[in-house]
Amino acid sequence: MAANLDGLVDEIRDAARELDATVWRSGLQGRFTSTRRSHTEQARLYRAFISGRHRYPVAPPGFSAHEYGEAFDYVVVPSEYQSDVGETWVSWGGTWGGATDDVHFELEGASARAKAMGEELNLRPDLEPEFGPTPGPAKIFSPGPWWVPGIPSYVDLLKSGTSATHKVMCKIFGSNWC
Ligand SMILES: [Zn+2]
Repeated sequence: MAANLDGLVDEIRDAARELDATVWRSGLQGRFTSTRRSHTEQARLYRAFISGRHRYPVAPPGFSAHEYGEAFDYVVVPSEYQSDVGETWVSWGGTWGGATDDVHFELEGASARAKAMGEELNLRPDLEPEFGPTPGPAKIFSPGPWWVPGIPSYVDLLKSGTSATHKVMCKIFGSNWC
């Protein structure tokens, strides 16, 4: 155990400790690599992510469950047991990052709530000066509604493009974007 669990909300902190204890009891090793993040820390990680220096998907600052203390990253050794630990977490009622973000554990639906909060606070315009347009529903569904035939949606434009935005979307949403 390395990163501090104190910043996590009560509902997840005890479960995180229990997960860690279960891992070590099973003869595996595990450690927390990230818990609650400040806005500054999230921005630093997001910067690393969009420039390709981060292995896992990173939400834009203001949109991460880590900033709300509702998520932690946890690495299991040997790594082939990472998904077993993820599935254990899910069986307890939590949400796990799965194949694309297998170190990520959170309260059920925490990422969705964090994203909704970021949208509600209308944080995207604040991010644009530094990061450019961030991927999000407002961008994805403009300019044409997807149900109108003949108008390429922004999704299709991104899928067929080779722009920096396209590459970022590939990373976030997986290979069916690329
Ligand atoms: Zn995470």
